[in-house]
Amino acid sequence: MQESVVTRFAPSPTGLLHIGGARTALFNYLFSKHYQGKFLLRIENTDLKRSTKEATNAIYEGLNWLGLTWDEEPVSQVSRRERHLEVAQLLMSNDMAYKCFCTPEELKIMRDKSISAGGFGGYNGKWRNVDASKHPPNMSPSIRLKTNNEGKTAIKDLIQGNVEVSNKEIDDMVLVRSDGTPTYMLAVAVDDHDMKITHVIRGDDHLTNTFRQIQIYQALGWKVPYFAHIPLIHGSDGKKLSKRHGALGVHSYKEDGILPQALNNYLLRLGWSHKDHEIINLKEAIDWFELKNVGKSPSRFDIDKLNHLNAHYISSSKNDELLKLITPILNDFLGFNIQIEVKKKVLLAMDNLKVRAKTLNELAEDARIYAYNVPITIEEKALTVLDQSTINMLNLTRNLLDQIADWTSEELEAAITSIVNENKVSFKEVAQPIRIAITGSLKSPSIHEVLANLGRDTSLERIDDFLRRYKTS
Ligand code: GLU
Repeated sequence: MQESVVTRFAPSPTGLLHIGGARTALFNYLFSKHYQGKFLLRIENTDLKRSTKEATNAIYEGLNWLGLTWDEEPVSQVSRRERHLEVAQLLMSNDMAYKCFCTPEELKIMRDKSISAGGFGGYNGKWRNVDASKHPPNMSPSIRLKTNNEGKTAIKDLIQGNVEVSNKEIDDMVLVRSDGTPTYMLAVAVDDHDMKITHVIRGDDHLTNTFRQIQIYQALGWKVPYFAHIPLIHGSDGKKLSKRHGALGVHSYKEDGILPQALNNYLLRLGWSHKDHEIINLKEAIDWFELKNVGKSPSRFDIDKLNHLNAHYISSSKNDELLKLITPILNDFLGFNIQIEVKKKVLLAMDNLKVRAKTLNELAEDARIYAYNVPITIEEKALTVLDQSTINMLNLTRNLLDQIADWTSEELEAAITSIVNENKVSFKEVAQPIRIAITGSLKSPSIHEVLANLGRDTSLERIDDFLRRYKTS
């Protein structure tokens, strides 16, 4: 690629940064970084009624969380209004745009007429060639582009291939509304030109806009950028993605304990592939990303795949990083802040914990057992398996465990195995009562591991407290 690449992400801050937007941002980011170019951010906030500060902040936060950092100050589209109007005036003075005095009622009739005659409902050019001397006084006009309505407008789309439309399908679009505000179509073309965007990569729902924006570029004699339209994301049932499919704002994946590396990897594979690689980190993605490897058909959103990738990224994260990430979640679950001793125990247990968790929330949930204080709450389900023989077995085990010199996972396992052998009982019959006593639940990583990580004092304290409370069941 000869010129230096500049891409942009141009969200409208009217709601959450949803995953479709995040994927568009990711593709723009990767493409620009692959070519050592720039990735810019433009907040398309011209719809003042629907654009909010909160949504703008959610976009910044979401992109930062994903590590998709933009170069240069974000551009606020609304702040460029004067420039958009200046370009409209330029088009007027070059006779490439004109004033239109149609009322909304007139336009509606025009549209209905066109549709009933089999047309697409476009503007019929009523004011295109009307001399200024015939313009009505005291009426605010809109400004329309003198569209080239002969021939075709073609795009060599870097994903979709050659796409063209007959110029008869493109009517004289409004550039400036009669209230004096520039339209989205004008603003986007002017901003992309002024920001020196070389590649416009966006959802294929913008394809029809692209033909119109190209006409604006051509009327101004500007160089048309490359375009790449990414197929949309569909739900697992093949229908347009919605909340029903679990397609939410990026922040909700964060809240659910998804790691940003996992979400990036997932979004990357949603419509893009490189050989048969499934696990791809951001650095590899930058090295490998090319638009020609983006598929042409819509991809399907699959939450299980995301969770699967997340489990991978959790299990390959460093233990101390995971501890940092789960500490606030753990504090929240427990209703108090965990102390350093608990953190040490969780760190010791992390190798075991992290291979079992699909999300950070699950990881924090599993780590809770290291933070409990006696008396431990015993789950309803666990209580139902208690009877006199389990209590007796726990008594016996407790006394033998107390004699262990070296409180390590290996010694503990050996001790439990010898109890199993000597008493001719199953492993479960020995392990389950201990598990209930020290975790309050029927499920946990290997019991000797948990005992080792808890330490002798805490383990015995929990067992003794349990036996005091459930002496006879
Ligand atoms: N603001 C538009 C949107 O959020 C995107 C415009 C563009 O990428 O050109 O859908």
